[in-house]
Amino acid sequence: MPEDALTKIVSLCRRRGFVFGGSEIYGGLSSIWDYGPLGAKLKKTIKDIWWDTYVNKRGDIVGLDSSIIMHEDVFKASGHLEGFADWLVDCPKCKKRFRIDKLQKIEEDLYKCPECDTTIDTKKNKARKFNLMLKTNMSATEDEPYFGYLRPETAQGIFTNFSNVMDTMHKKIPLGIAQIGKAFRNEVTTGSFIFRMKEFEQMEIEYFVNPATADEFYRTWVEERFTFYVNKIGLRKDSLRLREHGKDELAHYAKACTDIEYNFPFGWSELEGIANRGNFDLTEHSRVSKKDLSYFDDATKEKIVPFVIEPSAGVDRTFFAVISDAYHEEEVKGKIRVVLKLKPRLAPYSVAIFPLLKNRPELVELAKNIFYDIKDKFPALYDDSGAIGKLYRRQDEIGTPLCITVDVESLSDKKVTVRNRDTMQQERIDATNVLGFITERINA
Ligand code: ATP
Repeated sequence: MPEDALTKIVSLCRRRGFVFGGSEIYGGLSSIWDYGPLGAKLKKTIKDIWWDTYVNKRGDIVGLDSSIIMHEDVFKASGHLEGFADWLVDCPKCKKRFRIDKLQKIEEDLYKCPECDTTIDTKKNKARKFNLMLKTNMSATEDEPYFGYLRPETAQGIFTNFSNVMDTMHKKIPLGIAQIGKAFRNEVTTGSFIFRMKEFEQMEIEYFVNPATADEFYRTWVEERFTFYVNKIGLRKDSLRLREHGKDELAHYAKACTDIEYNFPFGWSELEGIANRGNFDLTEHSRVSKKDLSYFDDATKEKIVPFVIEPSAGVDRTFFAVISDAYHEEEVKGKIRVVLKLKPRLAPYSVAIFPLLKNRPELVELAKNIFYDIKDKFPALYDDSGAIGKLYRRQDEIGTPLCITVDVESLSDKKVTVRNRDTMQQERIDATNVLGFITERINA
């Protein structure tokens, strides 16, 4: 990907209403972003595809929507209060703060500042531990505060509801509990757009299994999730790779972990992690809450604490990967055409309809009628706010696969022009067959 790809993608997202800076009119907040009208649509489509694939279409996974604010003891049990921390160091010259594990090491105790190239000597500028959890005062009075924590992963809401789900749903393991929701981390590394945010969204499944079958399910999930990105989300296979964690890299609770990495504009980075978390979480929540979270496995006639396989995906990173993968530039008649070659199902609009001349009421009426016919079946847009060339370019940039134009001839031959986003080829089709034509192309 070209070096300035990140700048171009951020700029496209901004000018076309995909992503805005958070609290922008007040100068913004670092690593906080808002999704605009088209971004909200694309993000929802990604989440819907995931939910549909795993919750609606499978009998072995149920959904959950647990709260964001959780009891302090949840994070004592999970280890987050104690261990969910980064080691940070300040550059003595530019005063910027960095995660030490992300700095280039020169030699023992010496690191290079990525901002101003100064050598940071950690014997003089000691690294300090910084907890990533965000807490909030839940007391009515300031002088007697008591704190709740904003979850740093949706997973903990699943573990704390494990027995509620088992008791009410009458299911047997292997059973997955799936959840989509916000998570919060006080991240310090900035400047990577929506890759690393303080408030972000996750799509997580905790898949509970008999410990004897955990290795096999772990491998199945790695494969399943890789395939999902290619087949359902439309990412190019060569922009994805698997990276298995070495033993020294594993989180304290994990038995194994594989990252699915995407080749983002700044290089290969984690899109999703799939971990075999063993029975760490249920065991610890059992210990701290003093509730029995074990399970009687009918199949093997034994009482077990299930192991859990966790495919943990980021909605925002998937969104970023989708836009990066789809971003194309090409030269057309001496000008650069920017086009988002999104998988048709992901495009915010499947089709845009324009009258060639907005001062001809008959054209406007026909175009609007076509729009009304389509809009309940496909996300569609009617637009007459500019010249046709400008309207096409706008739709190219937001990835609309098809544009339909009603012109003067349409009134007599009852045909309209369909333009293909990727090839820019145009063809005339019957005005009465627009819906059938779109159905065929979008669902292909
Ligand atoms: P990283 O090493 O990049 O900080 P992580 O290993 O801490 O990520 P996990 O705890 O495994 O991330 O979280 C699961 C998924 O949640 C990640 O693969 C990513 O898609 C998403 N995610 C985690 N942290 C963030 C963040 N700060 N902003 C956006 N998405 C995130």
